[in-house]
Amino acid sequence: MITNEMLQVVNPATGEPITSLPAASADDVAKAAEQARQVHDSGVWSRLPVRERGTVLLRLADLMERDAEILARLDSEDAGKPITECRTGDVPGAIESIRWFAEAADKVFGRVAPSGPDSLGFMIREPVGVVAAILPWNYPLAMTAWKVGPALAAGNCLLVKPADATPRSALHLAELAAEAGLPHGVLTVLPGYGQEAGAALARSPLVGALSFTGSTATGRRILKDAAETNFKRISLEMGGKSPQVLMADALTYGDELIDNMIEAAFLTMGQNCTAGSRVLVHHSIAEEVLERFTAAAGELVIGDPADPRTRMGPLINHTAFDRVAGAVEAARAGGAQIHTGGLPHGLPPRGAYYPPTVITRAPDGADVLTKELFGPVVTLQTFTSEDEAVRGANATEYGLAASVWTRDLDVALRLARGIEAGVVSVNAYSEGDITTPFGGWKQSGFGGVEKSTDAFDQWTREKTIWIRAR
Ligand code: NAD
Repeated sequence: MITNEMLQVVNPATGEPITSLPAASADDVAKAAEQARQVHDSGVWSRLPVRERGTVLLRLADLMERDAEILARLDSEDAGKPITECRTGDVPGAIESIRWFAEAADKVFGRVAPSGPDSLGFMIREPVGVVAAILPWNYPLAMTAWKVGPALAAGNCLLVKPADATPRSALHLAELAAEAGLPHGVLTVLPGYGQEAGAALARSPLVGALSFTGSTATGRRILKDAAETNFKRISLEMGGKSPQVLMADALTYGDELIDNMIEAAFLTMGQNCTAGSRVLVHHSIAEEVLERFTAAAGELVIGDPADPRTRMGPLINHTAFDRVAGAVEAARAGGAQIHTGGLPHGLPPRGAYYPPTVITRAPDGADVLTKELFGPVVTLQTFTSEDEAVRGANATEYGLAASVWTRDLDVALRLARGIEAGVVSVNAYSEGDITTPFGGWKQSGFGGVEKSTDAFDQWTREKTIWIRAR
């Protein structure tokens, strides 16, 4: 077990250390939970009129806007994400989340039961109390904001454990929250390792709800820890192996289709839970799609994440590189064809750079087809009928997202209904916007969703109050 260690934050693009921080121990987590309990019970936040809570969060959103460039740089340096992605996607998305939940805080209503004339039964939602969030490294600030917004708007005290590789944007967010007037102890960031600080949160008897984003294996562990301790409410946003389904008319969308496919496959170097890593294409257009997609993938600018022109930075670390390269080489050995990418020639010398890679004829059951590789690797498979497309899309233990490309509304609707995934987008690579729920099916999700007013369900408990007139 790791205790009282230092957390080394390393720039994945250079391998250079950025900073080191004390890693929260299980004891630190227990103390933070105790303090959060006291702050919750004091009512300084939980009993503040909900619109006032919203006002503090709106100030936080304004401060994030002021510090947008700082936040973008922190995530880009810690995670190796291209700065342009952080500036145009992650940071504005995070600000929008905080602002949207601030404004939604006083728009979540309870329910009234159709009780008889002498009684009134109504259901209200109350904050859980002390709650926790455990986060991944691939969208450090954005995923934090998806949880901080509704958890705090609902009146909880939140303990946040960022991924050990990427703690700095969450720490900066907590500083901004204090500046915005959030009472001390309402938001506590605990940088630390999963097996120590993460497990301590999952097993804490004081934490009433825990929202996790990360791998399916860790999600399973957390659920078990909760079951073995206090049955805290658990929501899990986990991995994916999402299909992009291209029907025979998909190429009528031209470059728009190819651009969307590229974004789906290679955003954040494919280290994206919703990465469209399996292209299923109608056999009649397969050759042209392969040619155009491969050419576009080969043109992506790979390089220093700090350079605004860079579209592809390094993978998070060399372990990730070995996992990705190993799966590609195993597929190659099994007879697969690698059309672009594969071995990293001519890439920046430092950092775990891996090029965008497109694979056809992967052997049945190959890892590149079934495992979430979390890298810039895409397989292309063909189909001849709609049924075959749906079967292919569903041939995975995951069910996070999918996209479907066709101009035929009947076909689009049948596919959208047939595909087992929490989000199916038609003619777009999209997870929807902040107003739409986001959560996985099958082994991609459990227990709750992010975004939209449905996100409040994770962070509140419903209570029935029954009043009888005498
Ligand atoms: P990970 O599961 O390794 O780690 C996620 C978090 O869990 C980290 O903070 C880690 O320290 C912590 N952790 C590790 N072991 C733990 C334990 N025993 N108890 C408690 N916490 C523990 O995942 P990762 O590598 O950081 O992130 C990549 C994964 O996240 C991918 O599978 C990706 O699909 C998934 N992800 C999902 C979504 C979504 O919304 N569905 C979004 C982003 C990333």
